[in-house]
Amino acid sequence: MRIVQKFGGTSVGSIDRIRKTADIVAAELARGHQLAVVVSAMSGETNRLIEMAHELSPCPAERELDALVATGEQVTAALLAIELQQRGIDARSFTGGQAGFRTDSSHVRARIQRIECEHLVRCLEQGRVAVVTGFQGIDEAGNITTLGRGGSDTSAVALAVAIGADVCDIYTDVDGIYTADPRVVAGARKLDRISYEEMLELASLGAKVLQTRSVELAMRYGMPVHLRSSFHPVPGTMVTSEEESMERASISGVAYNRDEAKITIKGIPDHPGIAANVFGPVAEAGINVDVIVQNISEHGLTDITFTVPRSDYNKTMELMQQVCRDMKARSVSGDDSVAKVSIVGVGMRSHSGVAKKMFEVLAAEGINIQMITTSEIKITVVIDEKYVELAVRALHSAFGLDREPGQRN
Ligand code: ADP
Ligand code: ASP
Ligand code: MG
Repeated sequence: MRIVQKFGGTSVGSIDRIRKTADIVAAELARGHQLAVVVSAMSGETNRLIEMAHELSPCPAERELDALVATGEQVTAALLAIELQQRGIDARSFTGGQAGFRTDSSHVRARIQRIECEHLVRCLEQGRVAVVTGFQGIDEAGNITTLGRGGSDTSAVALAVAIGADVCDIYTDVDGIYTADPRVVAGARKLDRISYEEMLELASLGAKVLQTRSVELAMRYGMPVHLRSSFHPVPGTMVTSEEESMERASISGVAYNRDEAKITIKGIPDHPGIAANVFGPVAEAGINVDVIVQNISEHGLTDITFTVPRSDYNKTMELMQQVCRDMKARSVSGDDSVAKVSIVGVGMRSHSGVAKKMFEVLAAEGINIQMITTSEIKITVVIDEKYVELAVRALHSAFGLDREPGQRN
């Protein structure tokens, strides 16, 4: 088999952990597989590098930030290659550029355009282990680019697709994908399998165990992803297509995201084109709007409420104050201490009353719902940030996620 293994920050966070990672690589190699290994920077290293840049400048150039943070992965790739060589294993490190990752030029949020992997594939065919830096590539002009935080997952899946791997093993500090973040819900259960669709929703709604784009890629190309622990040698969770998913409960997981802020613009004269007027400037500023609610108009006036990432709150408030003046709206208000809590599951398609139950559970805990948005397989509510953990735990237990799938109601 041809396998891509990806090791996250904690799995390569120290010399000792790099030795443990080498054990896992060596064991897989001994089974006769061809291996490409994608590594993250040591845990905490990317943050440390970004903080140093901010000590020098409040707004460092993104090209230089990429040049800086890409070093984190180069350290771990070289160290792992050294350790493997020390054991007599034919291994070699590759930077993103050397491995053939070609991206666009959007620094700090680059997208992979293609992977020119012929050289790397030849190495694998000769039995050599390729240790590749995650998170980075180069653009057409040869500038170093990075793929956005958590991007090594995406590097790994993209490489697996490019080299035609049989599976992409993502090693991390939890032994699988759980029904909720195990750091928040003690009774969270490990899932044996989860569908791409559900994992995509969970990731985009805040479960940072996999970067959303890595799941998108895996789904598009049907690449099986095995999320597992580098600390315990137990089977993890397979992320695969829906047909192969075994579990058919109404919901599969709960996710939350604290990185939210809410803005309301009130008393806007209601006529065609207002949404474009409100959201045009936000889009031009490169800010992603998430949940949007527009109220029915009364006396020709309407209200619009929407959420943005918290780091874009001040900027968005400024833009909305201008929009408010231009459109002769009544007022703008905001709240940067809200959070999103979501329940996700393909079973929602065939179970009715899931939304009603979610709202009743939150009401029983005295949690006020500020906004609601749904899709076929998820329901998201925006609530006061201080109730996030309470909401996640209450929903997890009310939907029976702490019980075996067959014993839920
Ligand atoms: P890595 O550095 O290996 O990429 P991450 O910190 O990015 O690891 O992702 C692993 C973390 O994701 C876990 O430690 C866990 O706290 C968090 N997490 C959030 N939601 C979930 C979930 N539903 N299942 C498992 N882990 C989750
Ligand atoms: N080192 C990068 C980060 O911390 C990429 C990754 O770990 O996936 O975001
Ligand atoms: Mg990660």
